[in-house]
Amino acid sequence: MGQPMEILRDLPAFTAWRRALPSSARVGFVPTMGNLHEGHLALVTAAQSASDRVVVSIFVNPLQFTDAADLARYPRTETADLAALAAAGVDAVFLPSVDGLFPDSRPSVGIAPGSLAEPWEGAARPGHFAGMATIVAKLFHLVVPTVAVFGQKDFQQLRIVQAMVRDLDFPVEILAEPTHRAADGLALSSRNRFLSPAERDRAPLLQQQLRRTAAQLRAGELAEPVRIEPVLIESVLSEARQSLRAAGFEVDYFALCDVDTLLPTVQIERAVLLAAARLGAVRLLDNLLL
Ligand code: AMP
Repeated sequence: MGQPMEILRDLPAFTAWRRALPSSARVGFVPTMGNLHEGHLALVTAAQSASDRVVVSIFVNPLQFTDAADLARYPRTETADLAALAAAGVDAVFLPSVDGLFPDSRPSVGIAPGSLAEPWEGAARPGHFAGMATIVAKLFHLVVPTVAVFGQKDFQQLRIVQAMVRDLDFPVEILAEPTHRAADGLALSSRNRFLSPAERDRAPLLQQQLRRTAAQLRAGELAEPVRIEPVLIESVLSEARQSLRAAGFEVDYFALCDVDTLLPTVQIERAVLLAAARLGAVRLLDNLLL
């Protein structure tokens, strides 16, 4: 049995714990907003495989919410989260308060995430990625991780964190964990609990449509190995949006994007399908790497 899990709520306590670790310790870090599910726990397992000590943070980051109602209703399930992390053998959980991190309630300096943050989620939620990147940068400075694990579920977020680490030379390795799904294919997400039973039944259609579209694009690629006709791609994508709308989704975007720039592409090598669609009040995000 290892040490009991440390639960650290204020910054001085957390930094004291961190400084007491041997300098040779490899520290794995999993930043979260809590309401943990199997997807988050898979990130913990990946961090454990790559390090000696694992820190999980739980912080519902107000800087990355563009809608006050969304922030207010974000599920907070601290007792269950701590039990799951203790059972998973996590070494320390950092649960700062907003005031603890930002005594002036907001930072006056932040990370500008650049062009990767402009399309898709960035367009739908202005300021979201700047707020996310600013907190991640701050947590990296506090945790000083050797490796940090992020989910591919939030593909644009993952790419922005990778770019920040590369461009600003953060001394941390970023690991990407594949998306964990319910048995019917729906990507696990803290917001799924807000789906009505009828919406929950329909929600896996988003992933099914991504798979269908990927298969159509790949079939086109076999006929034309390097490049599919842009018109063909656009018609496959618009058919996908149409069938999601017919199933009751309000489609924000369903696009084929370059994995590096995240801009729309007509090359299916190094491409990712990115999708966001609303079912009732819930915005579902998913993606598929080609
Ligand atoms: P969140 O608490 O939603 O901010 O997510 C914390 C981390 O967990 C992020 O790196 C997410 O990408 C990752 N994550 C969320 N859902 C999943 C999932 N279904 N599978 C894998 N990783 C996930």
